[in-house]
Amino acid sequence: MKPVRVRMAPSPTGHFHIGGARTAMYNFLLARQTGGQFILRIEDTDRKRNTPEAQAELMEALHWLGLQWDEGPDVGGPHAPYTQTARKDIYLAHAQQLIASGHAYRCFCAPERLQRMRAEQLRSRAPLQYDGLCRRLDPAEATARAAAGEPHTIRFMTPDTGTTTVHDYLRGDITVENRNIDDYILVKSDGFALYHLAAMVDDHLMGISHVFRSSEWLGTFPLHALIIRAFGWQEPVWVHLSVFLKPTGKGKMSKRDVTSEQSIFVLGLRDLGYLPEAVNNWIALMGASFGPEETPLTMDELIERFSLDHLTPAAARVNFEKLDHFNGLYLRKLSPPDLAQRVRPFFERAGLAPDEDLLRRIAPIIQERIVTLDDAIDMAGFFFRPASRPPAAELLQKGMTAAQSVVALEQARAALAAVSEAEFGDHAALEAPLRALVERLGLKAGQVFGLLRVAVTGQRVSPPLFETMVIVGREQTLARLHWAEGQLRAAAVQPAIDT
Ligand code: GLU
Repeated sequence: MKPVRVRMAPSPTGHFHIGGARTAMYNFLLARQTGGQFILRIEDTDRKRNTPEAQAELMEALHWLGLQWDEGPDVGGPHAPYTQTARKDIYLAHAQQLIASGHAYRCFCAPERLQRMRAEQLRSRAPLQYDGLCRRLDPAEATARAAAGEPHTIRFMTPDTGTTTVHDYLRGDITVENRNIDDYILVKSDGFALYHLAAMVDDHLMGISHVFRSSEWLGTFPLHALIIRAFGWQEPVWVHLSVFLKPTGKGKMSKRDVTSEQSIFVLGLRDLGYLPEAVNNWIALMGASFGPEETPLTMDELIERFSLDHLTPAAARVNFEKLDHFNGLYLRKLSPPDLAQRVRPFFERAGLAPDEDLLRRIAPIIQERIVTLDDAIDMAGFFFRPASRPPAAELLQKGMTAAQSVVALEQARAALAAVSEAEFGDHAALEAPLRALVERLGLKAGQVFGLLRVAVTGQRVSPPLFETMVIVGREQTLARLHWAEGQLRAAAVQPAIDT
């Protein structure tokens, strides 16, 4: 395939979501695969809805995903500027060109007239379209009125008769009756172009070969093709990407369809503790297949395997379990120092100040047990807090009395005290005597180790017990067991605390 020129053209109006990320991803993959260019263009002509925060967020999100663009507002390029508000005059000149060639006209209808017209059309159930009043104006008169400063918009002059056929790569030919295509506004009365004109002009001037965009544009797709054809330009390859369905598979996905543990926003996923590698994989597979198996693919593999022919127009269900699955797989592939570095901000956010060394020692023992980076806080936050001193009720395990627990703790402490400081660094040196103790006591391993776990960590779920004790250290481990023993001794003299 020849090197492509593709673009991501977001309107910075809200949080950057997985739909935008998927569009960026396919652009990026095709550009990298073919040795082409990936362009970031900011479509900020809707000046009421754009915010600088949204633009900063989308750039941060793309950086986080590793989808670096080759040309764009920050990095520049041969077609700068890459921000549409800075290209206002370019669009205006092109709109005038369309007026001159008879493909567009000035419309002087006041907003009130348009509102009345629309209300009447709604009432009579007529198609909601401009009635063409100004289309019939004498062009010389329209030019004179505009020159005199009369406010106006510029509309596309859609052919009245015939049909228009457009071609979408995933759906094939789509044919519509021209009379059903409205005379859309191309330039507003404030002189700013709308998407319909601005994007077509930019795609042409920037030499865009393939357009990936959301299927919400299918409705105005014929209009876009007509605009391009009116200029006599060549159309790009059009690829309208599938919509996302709710996790249940019923209805379109919206930001309201998520729990507090989920997000459809890219930085939201980052803050929940998902890895960019996992998010990329997850997103890439929503609406495309990359081969028979769904093992995680590296970015290089995604680039290598990407094909337009593997994209599907069928709606894709947003499956958060799959994201968890990918995240777990990627987490387990990280080297411990890398994992340590990635979980650090989560500890800091939780108000903990993790020691670098300690974090690196903890990384391998939590790696198998967390699904997101944020899970590391619940799992291993205790390492960075003072001893938690759990009360008797929490220490007691199912089927064990307080008196039995006291005995178990006492003997565990004795067994561990017999392990020298030097040997304490090896978890096998702790495991052997404690397993022997379980045998002697005639209790279940789950009961005794559950008790020791709560005594040492303050929690019922923790990293593997013996490895944890090694990191907590001999002195602290013994002290915590001692404290727990005291708690249970006090409880043992009061009957009926048994669980
Ligand atoms: N600015 C449009 C949007 O955010 C871009 C659509 C396109 O990629 O052409 O929906």
